[in-house]
Amino acid sequence: MTDGTGDIVIQSVGVIGAGQMGNGIAHVCALSGFDVKLHDVNPDRVEAGLASINGNMARQVGSGRITEEERQAALARITGSPMLADLGEVDLVIESAVENEEIKRNIYKELCPLLKPEAILSTNTSSISITRLAATTDRPERFIGIHFMNPVPVMELVELVRGIATEDTTFETSRVFVDKLGKTIAVSEDFPAFMVNRVLLPMINEAIYVLYEGVGSVEAIDTAMRLGARHPMGPLELADFIGLDTCLSIMQVLYEGLADSKYRPCPLLVKYVEAGWLGRKTHRGFYDYRGETPVPTR
Ligand code: NAD
Repeated sequence: MTDGTGDIVIQSVGVIGAGQMGNGIAHVCALSGFDVKLHDVNPDRVEAGLASINGNMARQVGSGRITEEERQAALARITGSPMLADLGEVDLVIESAVENEEIKRNIYKELCPLLKPEAILSTNTSSISITRLAATTDRPERFIGIHFMNPVPVMELVELVRGIATEDTTFETSRVFVDKLGKTIAVSEDFPAFMVNRVLLPMINEAIYVLYEGVGSVEAIDTAMRLGARHPMGPLELADFIGLDTCLSIMQVLYEGLADSKYRPCPLLVKYVEAGWLGRKTHRGFYDYRGETPVPTR
């Protein structure tokens, strides 16, 4: 929909990628009254995403944060969309597919011809240049980074990142949209990994070096940072939560983008990713989650 001046008013949102972030984004958008189409290249992920949203909203009802009526209304606003073409009519797309630049580019190539000319295209990338991604689309002026934090329904912050070509109207429309989600915005310049991950990921990578060098065990490192630095989660626990593949991609973007050896990904992180031990999402990372309680893997 457009307003009197021709600017788009966001009413419907397409989310691409139904992983942990995509389903969280669909969840908060639907609860805030937006119609949502949730797409993934893998239809099973869409089904699993819808099931997670259902369960997570049920928990919110249980804790009194939303009512059963709000849950039902929000669920009714989300549609699983097996085809990318189903997103053709949405006002805003939030791309939240895997943190891989080539995959993101290919998605935009297929998606852009399907979109309305006035639709805004955004990415939830944790680290990749907004300007570079925008340049691969047909609408760099209507492209922006809307970077949510994990888990999306719980975390209050969204980083808003303009590319070099992002128009003021795109920024303003996105700002109003994020406000409607009830999130707080921190505006970041378009530099590798933006603000939160520029600080957080080198800390996590350093914790993995501390493990790699035998300075402490998984449990000792996490306990040290929980009780010694008052972090709510230890860095290795947090790495498993983020996903070790995502952590590695972010470190690679920092390493290459800033050309500084201090961002060198720890070889142990590379090894875990090569093993397919990606953290919680694959049930094994620095901890093994297959039993009742997580058990450190080293
Ligand atoms: P995930 O691995 O849980 O999910 C990624 C999803 O993308 C999968 O379901 C996969 O099937 C899908 N996908 C892969 N190729 C696709 C394609 N061509 N078309 C459509 N879907 C495709 O990953 P995630 O943690 O949800 O991360 C998604 C994005 O969010 C990444 O860009 C990541 O950097 C960013 N992000 C992650 C976190 C975090 O803590 N994990 C936080 C903020 C932002």
